Amino acid sequence: MIVGALGGGQLGRMLALAGAPLGIVMRFLDPTEGACCSQIADLIVADYDDTAALDRFAAGLDVATFEFENVPVEAVRRVASRVPTFPPADGLAVAQDRLSEKHLFERLDIPVPKFVAIETPNELADAAERLGYPGVLKTRRMGYDGKGQHVLRGGADVAAAWKAIGGVPLILEQFVDFTRELSLVAARGRDGDIVYYPLVENHHSGGILRTTLAPAPGISDALEALGRRHVGAILEELNYVGVLAVEFFEHAGRLLANEMAPRVHNSGHWTIEGAQTSQFENHLRAILGWPLGDPSPRGHAAMVNFIGDMPAKADILRISGAHFHDYGKPPRPGRKVGHATVVAEDAESLSNRLEIVTRLMS
Ligand code: AMP
Repeated sequence: MIVGALGGGQLGRMLALAGAPLGIVMRFLDPTEGACCSQIADLIVADYDDTAALDRFAAGLDVATFEFENVPVEAVRRVASRVPTFPPADGLAVAQDRLSEKHLFERLDIPVPKFVAIETPNELADAAERLGYPGVLKTRRMGYDGKGQHVLRGGADVAAAWKAIGGVPLILEQFVDFTRELSLVAARGRDGDIVYYPLVENHHSGGILRTTLAPAPGISDALEALGRRHVGAILEELNYVGVLAVEFFEHAGRLLANEMAPRVHNSGHWTIEGAQTSQFENHLRAILGWPLGDPSPRGHAAMVNFIGDMPAKADILRISGAHFHDYGKPPRPGRKVGHATVVAEDAESLSNRLEIVTRLMS
């Protein structure tokens, strides 16, 4: 089986690692020479608009996918015209625009923070007054890891926010005073079967995910069911195949959808060691039309991202239940270069192990 993926970063690398025991060989296309997938799989270095390279990439594949959310939809459509490609390009198109994403959520009765679409400085000034402060101004497209965002604390911030990210289509959201951030990863197969991982708790700083606790502590059955209902509705509506992640704010007993990612997701990395079947394996199973694997957690898990650089490997490896992931990327400020997952049978042991990892990183 040969599976192709557009994008050649760490998500692709973890897909390839998950596929190897199943006899899956992966091929990647990425514009960056030496993208980290090239250390373990074939990489075609080409721009996403290089149609000849896309055709070379697609030739002989059993199925194609993407691991990068900002890959141009036209590239996915080009590949899809040659080989079966999942998730569907239409789902990717929706996820690439925060406005169409919010409209989809609203259509499916999934609550979202109040928002207004913005095109001009005047619209921004009006909308900021109407929504009130604080607010979060975001570019509709190409934002990730907190990039393309600006918090408005009062009227004095409006001009600076426009200057920082204005000139492209924007969206202004009410700042949600959330209890915590949660996300839910699910996979839908080609036959429509769906498996859900549990809601997990995410901690961000500077807009970048730092830590995930899985399952999220203290989630009621009702909230878990609500999360599944929301994500299931999106999967069905888009006739989706593959892994989808949805990020929520927990607020006043409700889940407000923040955004979705039409791919394997950072908040699902814990599943490699912490679940019966990882999100990466389930994504491959889904797109290949194979039966989906059991998503149940094996115990308690915490995932800690290494951002910018990595702690000493040996220090992490000494911790019982800890698993080290090095993405093979040169260190750079703000860049995700690896992660550790710690697993434990009970919440107390997990918390002790997590504390050691956190101390090593400070
Ligand atoms: P995003 O790129 O939309 O996932 O935003 C990155 C992070 O910024 C989120 O994980 C939140 O921590 C924070 N954030 C984004 N939008 C809001 C909002 N409307 N209210 C409060 N915090 C937000």
